[in-house]
Amino acid sequence: MKKKQFASDNYSGICPEAWHALSEANKDHAIPYGEDQWTAEAADLFRDLFETDCEVFFVFNGTAANSLAISHCCHSFHSIVCASCGHIETDECGAPEFFSNGAKLLHVDSPDGKLDIAAVEEAITRRDDIHYPKAKVLSITQSTECGTVYNVDDLRGIHEVALRHRLRVHMDGARFANAVASLGVAPKEITWKVGVDVLCFGSTKNGAVAGEAVIFFDKELAKDFDYRCKQAGQLASKMRFLSAPLVGMLKNDVWIRNAGHANKMAGKLQQRLREIGINEFLFPREANALFLTLSDKTAGIMADKGWRIYNFIGGAHRLMCGWDTTDQDIDDIIADLKDAIK
Ligand SMILES: *Cc1c(COP(=O)(O)O)cnc(C)c1O
Repeated sequence: MKKKQFASDNYSGICPEAWHALSEANKDHAIPYGEDQWTAEAADLFRDLFETDCEVFFVFNGTAANSLAISHCCHSFHSIVCASCGHIETDECGAPEFFSNGAKLLHVDSPDGKLDIAAVEEAITRRDDIHYPKAKVLSITQSTECGTVYNVDDLRGIHEVALRHRLRVHMDGARFANAVASLGVAPKEITWKVGVDVLCFGSTKNGAVAGEAVIFFDKELAKDFDYRCKQAGQLASKMRFLSAPLVGMLKNDVWIRNAGHANKMAGKLQQRLREIGINEFLFPREANALFLTLSDKTAGIMADKGWRIYNFIGGAHRLMCGWDTTDQDIDDIIADLKDAIK
């Protein structure tokens, strides 16, 4: 296998600032189960970042963050509206349904990864009888599984539907940082100001060790979420090792710098692909992912050369850049691709 890959941004290691914070957190003893200074500091940094008094929890990964956040927004007889390509629908092995004791995901066609308001409306109002699970949550992914980004107006539209139908809004922000970097807006503009009740703030892909933050902007909704985390096996005893890397990344804007770099490198990669004659991309490049269609022959040659390229996400071959992608990495894959498409 090649040393560096473009298969996903979770192939990357830990960024220096997260690594440093981790080693600092390892110097002394600390109170377990999140009662430590690092966890308190990370939560405060999130409150500063979002410019509001929110409740912050740390869990081990994105599947847990999404599943537990969603299950806290609804009862088992409810439904959760999401995009058909949504990670909660396609990549979490039924965990959202499992943790919500059987609440149903209602997925709607979303050609570019973004929920289409009319389709959402149709899914919600299709039935209003007692035999159909009642819609209670709107779940959106920012940036999306297709590498697109909801802009502020898109989110206002989502908010409006949510208000009209009294739905909670959950945001899967596994790549929230990439969306903020792409839009260049304050984080509050695309979260609580547009009605997001709970955000799963991703950090693993962006340079942390593991661990995602679940951020409740509706503090009332957060009540007893700590018990839910504990019951689900998501209360880390040495919590500081989940939270300290986030302190390292939230300080000095490392989180947004990392994501901005990943986005910029994806832009460069797209430019270089065009130069070797690859001009067709399935979705607009708005964050750190590119989707293209490679022939079986080309894909086979690339695999033989040691490149891992997923073709089951977004229905095409995906190339992703990360916080650590370099110009040399791009030169390397372009050189091999140029050969492979001959
Ligand atoms: C990676 C990812 C997650 C989190 O996945 P885990 O492997 O459970 O950490 C969640 N949502 C999206 C859109 C992702 O890409």
